[in-house]
Amino acid sequence: MALAAGPEKQVGKLVVTNIGLLLSGALEAPILDADTIVAESGRIVAVGKRGDCDIGDARVTIDAHGCAVSPGLVDSHVHPVFGDWTPRQGQFGWIDSFLHGGVTTMVSAGEVHLPGRPRDIVGVKALAITAQRAYENFRPGGVKVLGGAPVIEKGMVESDFVELAQAGVRLLGEVGLGSVKAGYEAKEMVAWARKAGIQSTIHTGGPSVPGSGYIDADTVLEADADIIGHINGGHTALPLSQIRCLCEGCARGIEIVHNGNELAGLTALRYARELGQMQRVMLGTDSPAGSGVQPLGILRMIALLSSVGDTPAETLFCCATGNTARMRNLDCGLIETGKAADLVFMDRAQHSSGTDLLDSVRKGDLPGIGMVVIDGIVRCGRSRNTPPAERVPEVVG
Ligand SMILES: [Zn+2]
Repeated sequence: MALAAGPEKQVGKLVVTNIGLLLSGALEAPILDADTIVAESGRIVAVGKRGDCDIGDARVTIDAHGCAVSPGLVDSHVHPVFGDWTPRQGQFGWIDSFLHGGVTTMVSAGEVHLPGRPRDIVGVKALAITAQRAYENFRPGGVKVLGGAPVIEKGMVESDFVELAQAGVRLLGEVGLGSVKAGYEAKEMVAWARKAGIQSTIHTGGPSVPGSGYIDADTVLEADADIIGHINGGHTALPLSQIRCLCEGCARGIEIVHNGNELAGLTALRYARELGQMQRVMLGTDSPAGSGVQPLGILRMIALLSSVGDTPAETLFCCATGNTARMRNLDCGLIETGKAADLVFMDRAQHSSGTDLLDSVRKGDLPGIGMVVIDGIVRCGRSRNTPPAERVPEVVG
């Protein structure tokens, strides 16, 4: 297992040249006509053709050797606990393994797997604040984990949300996993959270594991959380007619997860496309879960939804990066100046039948990852988890 990194930032200038395909993360223009990225202090400061960028005085130079570069993948839905350990399947190092699947940011949907998770209000708040602090100070493998997502319980009042926000909590864990399950109750607390600056996600569908709950479309719409968490269930999905109601009945985030129902996920994607609202679609794994942890889960979602879902691969990369970042107000997920220099270098996997990276994904193959950069720092070289890429980048200076 790689050593965990703290929240340190790049010092000096990073230059990336010879990018063969630059994926922007932005749906309105998913492919950029550029081959060079320059970053300073962990932020992108220039994107363009090599001749148009100031590439002198670099502290680190990466020759992409024609690889594709995407914004770091964002997993919109994870259930961390503490450090790089998950009690759900008794595993260590799972977050570091996600780094090798191209994930550079993870968003907690609640630290719900903590053995003996407190349900009393003081305990709920204490756990959320502790998790938020702990992951701010500790980045397994360098991955940015946005932790500290309290699961709302009956009896919480508006001042609880103000207190949480003042303490640095920015997320609610999945609404519905605690004692608050009725739409009218959830709606009030979700509104208090939003007013305090805390974003919310609601559990959608059947119970995930014994002790979890069932939330139908009417409850999701009434609660009006910011993100329709795992619209394809986690794993048990709502009837497709209810999923259609959710897509049509609100403008909230449509989150499709790996550990959900694949048919429901593909159908939600189709509804979003038919509505012309692909900007709402965001991807997560909902792991760790009963079905385990999936270091390549986001890549697998991209390949599944592109191939079986008949959607351009570059569109799905936006769903896994810029869409999530925009809907969740993150400072990453897009290749543009001012954003975090979180980069995934990929190429067609060796022996894929696809003609290039995007064609291989469209045919259902996973890309090979050759390097991952977070906040301008190289965090890993050739992935230990993906199939080997044909071309890999190289640090040349
Ligand atoms: Zn859930």
